[in-house]
Amino acid sequence: MLSYQHAYHAGNFADVHKHLVLYSVADHLLRKKSPITYIDTHAGRGLYPLDADETTRLQEYRDGVARLWEERERLSATTPLLSDWLMALVGAQQGSGLAHYPGSPWWLSHRLREQDRLRLFELHPAEHGHLADQALSSAVQRIQGDGLAGLLKALPVKTPRLCVLIDPSYERKAEYEEVVSTLLSAMRKARHAVVMVWYPLLPAGRHQTLLEGLRDAGLRKIWRSELRLREPQEGERGMIGSGMLVVNPPWGLDARIAESMDALLPLWGSTARHHGDWWVGE
Ligand code: SAM
Repeated sequence: MLSYQHAYHAGNFADVHKHLVLYSVADHLLRKKSPITYIDTHAGRGLYPLDADETTRLQEYRDGVARLWEERERLSATTPLLSDWLMALVGAQQGSGLAHYPGSPWWLSHRLREQDRLRLFELHPAEHGHLADQALSSAVQRIQGDGLAGLLKALPVKTPRLCVLIDPSYERKAEYEEVVSTLLSAMRKARHAVVMVWYPLLPAGRHQTLLEGLRDAGLRKIWRSELRLREPQEGERGMIGSGMLVVNPPWGLDARIAESMDALLPLWGSTARHHGDWWVGE
């Protein structure tokens, strides 16, 4: 039985990293008129009130989005991406304070054009219930079910372009392998798709299964972005960083993310690092 609920972690540093990459990818795709299908395989609730019981329990957003919010004026002047992203974050609020953190369905749906489609998968019945309560455009399809199987079933899509976010909770170790096999099958069916895969950096280094699986399969054109807050302390088990792989990344994504992450790093102290590379070659 699934126990992960993203509301406990909403707005943390990893969400900020993931949603900045997501925003920048979508930004680039939106420069052309041709229709896009977005598929979010692990959607979560869509919008997270920061005063919800689950979110106030760990208050992870305080070390994440709240730090950007406090310095939003200064940060907005650093890069166009941060300026746009922070403006969108302001738009997600109902008042003048930071009261909600938007999840991936929000980041994708609020910029949906008439010609675009968005398919959201969420397996957990209660999480899907929250997602179903969100007011989203009629071009958004919400499906309660397995997102990896759902992605493969949805291919090929009818639109000329496809953009996918794979953002599992990795509650089970096997999920790293399942992501690899799904990604390989998806790329066979949709060679030009832009696919983002999020993974946690844990002291145990479990994400190596994902990276090695993809490297061994010889998948090309993958850009990697890793935000590492610090090196793990002895015996530490929690998340120390956030990783994103982007298959077929839009041109210039590497530079845009690198400059924005450089602007953000001081928020997390002197041990924070960002590393971006063409991980299996261009
Ligand atoms: N993508 C969301 C965001 O950025 O706001 C966060 C997603 S959270 C990390 C992972 C979500 O996947 C949880 O809501 C969990 O219930 C859901 N989930 C777990 N296994 C799943 C599966 N096989 N298919 C679809 N959703 C699943």
